[in-house]
This record gives sequence, C-alpha cells and structure tokens, in this order.
Amino acid sequence: MTIQFIDLQRQYQRIENALWERLSKVLKSCKFILGPEVAELETKLSEFVGRKYCVSCSSGTDALLMPLMAWGIGSGDAVFTSPFTFIATSEVIRLVGATPVFVDIDPRTFNIDPAELERNIVEVISQGKLKPKAIIPVDLFGLPANYEKILDIAKKYNLLVLEDAAQGFGGVWNGKYACSFGNASATSFFPAKPLGCYGDGGAVFTDDPELYELLLSIRVHGQGGNKYENVRNGINGRLDTLQAVVLLAKLELFPEELKLRNEVAQKYCTLLKGKVETPFVPEGYTSSWAQFSVLAKDETERKRIIEKLNEKGIPTAIYYPKPLHLQKVNLDLGYKEGDFPVSESIAKRIFSLPMHPYLKDAEIEMISSTIIEALNL
Ligand SMILES: *Cc1c(COP(=O)(O)O)cnc(C)c1O
Repeated sequence: MTIQFIDLQRQYQRIENALWERLSKVLKSCKFILGPEVAELETKLSEFVGRKYCVSCSSGTDALLMPLMAWGIGSGDAVFTSPFTFIATSEVIRLVGATPVFVDIDPRTFNIDPAELERNIVEVISQGKLKPKAIIPVDLFGLPANYEKILDIAKKYNLLVLEDAAQGFGGVWNGKYACSFGNASATSFFPAKPLGCYGDGGAVFTDDPELYELLLSIRVHGQGGNKYENVRNGINGRLDTLQAVVLLAKLELFPEELKLRNEVAQKYCTLLKGKVETPFVPEGYTSSWAQFSVLAKDETERKRIIEKLNEKGIPTAIYYPKPLHLQKVNLDLGYKEGDFPVSESIAKRIFSLPMHPYLKDAEIEMISSTIIEALNL
C-alpha cells in the first residue's frame, strides 16, 4: 500500500477521457491565451462561489497582488495579516511597498485572532506612522477565517478586506462559500490546492464593478482600450486556456470531492480523538480540507510520530515550521521571537497527514494506528 500525501493520479483516472477531449479542442483551436474556455471557467467559478465577477490569473500569488495594485496600496500603508501562513501572503504586501502588520492567530482555528486584529489596528493608528488600509485574512487549511468579526472590524476602521482563500476554495461560512467574503478574494489553483490545475493558476473574485475593470487591465500589463494602449502598471497575469479546461473538468467532480474530503476528515477525527489534537471546525463552518493538520503535545512527540509514519512510507508535511515574522526576508520589519506566541508554539507542534478525496478507509486506519503506535512508544 503506497499512500500519497495528495493523490492526483486517482483523480486523473476519473477525468482522463473528458479532459483529453477538451484539451485536444484547445490544441486544435490554437487559442492558448484567453481562449473562450477561460471566460467559461470564470462564469462557472463566480456562479459556484456566489460572486458577481471572477478574474482568473496566473497564480494565487498574482491573485493576491492584483487587488492590492488596483487599490493603490503602497508605501506608508499597513496591511494586517497572519504570520502563520504561506510566504506569498506577506510577499505581495511587500511587493507593492506596503508594510505587513502581523497579528497572532486563534490557537484552535489557526486563523487570525479578531481581538488581536483590533488591538493591532488601534496600536497602528495611535503610533501614527503607518496608515491602516487593508486586512488579508487567510482561510488556513481550508477553514474560512472569522469573517463575522473581521468584517465588522473592517467596517469600524474603514479597511479593505482581501480574503486569502488560496487554500479555502470550497470552504463555507454562514451558508456562503469561501471566495465570497470581503471586498475581494484570491484563490490558487496550484495542483495541491483543493481545486488545482496542472500547473500554476489562480483567480480573484469580487462584487465591485470598478475593481473588476481594474483587475482586467492589470492582468494584461495595465492595458487601456486595447492591448497597445497602456494606462497603468500591470503584470502578465493571465491563466492559460489549457489550465482553464483542466479546471473545467475538475470543477465537475469538485462538489463530490468536497463531500469525500469531509468524510475522510471525519474518519481521522474519530480514530485520532484524544490521541493528538484534531482540527477544530466552529459551528456554521465547513472546511475544504486543503490540509488535515493535527497538533502533537510538543516538538519531541511530533518528531517521534513523523518518524514512525515515514518509516512506514506514510508521507507527512509541516505547515508551517517558521512563521512569517521570523523569515529572513521579513527580518527588516523588526519582529523577533516571542512576538507571536501562539503562532510560534503551534509551528513547533503541528503536522499534516495525507488528505485527498480518494483516501481509502484502510489507509486512514493504517495512518491513525501508526500515530497511536508512535504515541505508545
Ligand atoms: C498557495 C498559497 C498562496 C499562493 O498561491 P500560488 O498559486 O502558489 O501562487 C497564497 N496564500 C496561501 C495561504 C497559500 O497557501
């Protein structure tokens, strides 16, 4: 039995025939850049998440970058986000010249802590050095952030909200899908994300018609009325037509896959209850289970479990071993160890188990019993 961390082969077998039909249509049409399938995908995606507009793009990173560019966020502006996320979240803030202000996370959801968020906003205002402009909440591991509180705080302090739903696509809060919260939402179609293509890809969602127009322009080098009229700085941020058809094929399986992912998570939770700390999904939320991450008691116990799993050929991963405020690239921001105790302590205890819709019961059982075996050593 070989267990994949994320099994894209089993999924490929299901879409193989339908996908090749669509791929060969694109290859014959030679419309590789912004072919009609890109617009078809954007319509289907915006219908799925429940937003007016979708602008597909070249990666989740560009999906985060483009709204910041469109809003004119830059030097002297503060953008509040979590230090417990993938580097892209703070990278885009720095790329536009703004300053990331990190806010510690909730120890149960691993998402930005709303009380800490407000405390940091008030502090930045009272220091008077940076102008608070936006919040980038991250839907970590597929669980939407606490939008009930975050959206209220954003309103109170007049801040823009850019949802980082790179891992969140398919998650739900309050009957609404991830990618529908805040002023704009960004997702990623990196192969390992809940909805992945066969390369890099991403999308921005919004209900704001002005932002939509700006995003279309920024995606193609800041184009104006036509391609050779350039009215602002933009990027080469398009999604390939070939990736769009991969996503169209996979989107058909997606609702069923979400259900299967939730069943896998349920089984893990039942088998691992009381052994390691299993993920917490608050009432009214559904996770898309981009990752199934659990907490060991401490770093030593985590090491023991991971070694035992790897001995048996079971892959694991650590998301994230080093919070963003301690990354070399961000050291100039002046943060130090101890600034975000929750993120730092979770970084030492967390690890992720194989998670995908096609994980079999026997595999889940074997993974779980191996963890329990390691705990009894
Ligand atoms: C993957 C990821 C991104 C970046 O997406 P890419 O498509 O790899 O550029 C941004 N934020 C988070 C939280 C991610 O997990």
